[in-house]
Amino acid sequence: MYDPNNIFGRILRGEIPVAKVYENEHVLSFMDGMPQSDGHTLVIPKVPSRNLFDAQPDVLAELIKATQYVAKGVKKAFNPDGIRIAQFNEPAAGQTVFHLHFHIIPCYEGQELRVHARGMADPALLTAHATKVVDALKKQGP
Ligand code: AMP
Repeated sequence: MYDPNNIFGRILRGEIPVAKVYENEHVLSFMDGMPQSDGHTLVIPKVPSRNLFDAQPDVLAELIKATQYVAKGVKKAFNPDGIRIAQFNEPAAGQTVFHLHFHIIPCYEGQELRVHARGMADPALLTAHATKVVDALKKQGP
């Protein structure tokens, strides 16, 4: 059911670099590598689960708390007109990485979202975007 060699499992083990935004004992948050809009951020639990259905309730509680916290930072950093929080279960629903995660996707009036999970962004741009969110979170406090 859960393959530890999925890309987020590898990110958690430090095998693949990411533009990190936030981390606590329960979650890791980083910029989506193929962002659907500027500021597209992911939040993943450190404990393995394939998706929503095999996750423990306490893991989900920490995940949504952290998602709210990071989303506030994304909102402050990018000033979007709205923010979509998304989570997909299984390929038919759009899931492409089989380690539970929430998407934080800023939405800008008059701007269509880019295609899901296609086209890696420039790592330098992702780092710059992560820095903006980190700075906003610092101002925001815990
Ligand atoms: P989902 O389709 O809901 O499983 O979302 C997986 C997300 O992971 C997509 O939005 C991808 O753009 C993103 N993604 C895949 N590989 C990486 C990576 N190496 N670093 C950061 N984000 C990634």
